[in-house]
Amino acid sequence: MFGLIGHLTSLQHAQSVARELGYPEYADQGLDFWCMAPPQIVDDITVTSITGQTIYGKYVESCFLPEMLASQRIKAATRKIVNAMAHAQKNGINITALGGFSSIIFENFNLQRITRIRNIQLDLQRFTTGNTHTAYIICRQVEQGAQKLGIDLNKATVAVCGATGDIGSAVCRWLDARTDTAELLLVARHQGRLETLQSELGRGKIMSIEEALPQADIVVWVASMPKGIEIDAENLKHPCLMIDGGYPKNLGTKIQHPDVHILNGGIVEHSLDIDWKIMHIVNMNIPNRQLFACFAESMLLEFEQLHTNFSWGRNEITVAKMEKIGEISLKHGFKPLALAV
Ligand code: NDP
Repeated sequence: MFGLIGHLTSLQHAQSVARELGYPEYADQGLDFWCMAPPQIVDDITVTSITGQTIYGKYVESCFLPEMLASQRIKAATRKIVNAMAHAQKNGINITALGGFSSIIFENFNLQRITRIRNIQLDLQRFTTGNTHTAYIICRQVEQGAQKLGIDLNKATVAVCGATGDIGSAVCRWLDARTDTAELLLVARHQGRLETLQSELGRGKIMSIEEALPQADIVVWVASMPKGIEIDAENLKHPCLMIDGGYPKNLGTKIQHPDVHILNGGIVEHSLDIDWKIMHIVNMNIPNRQLFACFAESMLLEFEQLHTNFSWGRNEITVAKMEKIGEISLKHGFKPLALAV
């Protein structure tokens, strides 16, 4: 059995979802209540591959909210993640994806030191960040989106915002090794990590977001921002492809400009309907078929009976591993969400 650990994007989102899912006692509560709330299994899932194989899974709502980080409720945030992991393990789930901020919190607050939650000894082999599949899907979205918009990668400048992160660094490695992208712009805040990435790649220009945006034909957004930022479409190249892989979204406004194309990043579409309710709640356009690539990674590992932490740690995703998960993804009927133009 596979599992998905997820969370909602804001307190307001959580309150409306609680009402919709039939938890009225959660719907009128503020952040303090969510800091105390235990994890819940709120969905049972059945997925059938195009090979005909069927697998079963569960969705674990961690009750983490990005406002907990913004208001420095670090203890509550970390408790949410380890409790959700223990809950997944207690329910017999063999491989669980840590969606959205779950894996970021796990890494940033060094949660591998917490090995025991009450009577459960956490077995980390049962968890994956799902980031290898997410990075692979975003790279394919860059390649396919560029082709659709007539942007030649061999003449194009691609800015990666969040370049030093787990997903961002993998995207940079792939664009460097597997495409002929002309110029890479590396954007993040911490200068030392940017320089390490630049020397690993042997290329890439380090820039602030403000400097990078007007120069980029394609922008990949994979920064771990608890809240999106505002962008003025007039300061961008036309055409410009913006692939927003953040959860919550890195872009704070809905940009409406005929030559700026926004694509939901790190999202896959399955060839067959999936039996679940959860993707209605996170506003996917086709909720029976579309999902986060990190969640799909735990499904892929279950299909292949690879009950191991395929994606783990930070900045260790190789192009070879991205190729491997990409092959399995295609085999079972997933494809990257395409640009609608
Ligand atoms: P990491 O924490 O590993 O990396 C985050 C990156 O963002 C770092 O380079 C960090 O560098 C940078 N960053 C953070 N804040 C800012 C800022 N204000 N301005 C510029 N750069 C910033 O995160 P992941 O790679 O694991 O995840 C990235 C995003 O992808 C998250 O939003 C996550 O929720 C989402 N995600 C989506 C998935 C999907 O299936 N679609 C799956 C998993 C994650 P620095 O701190 O130096 O600025």
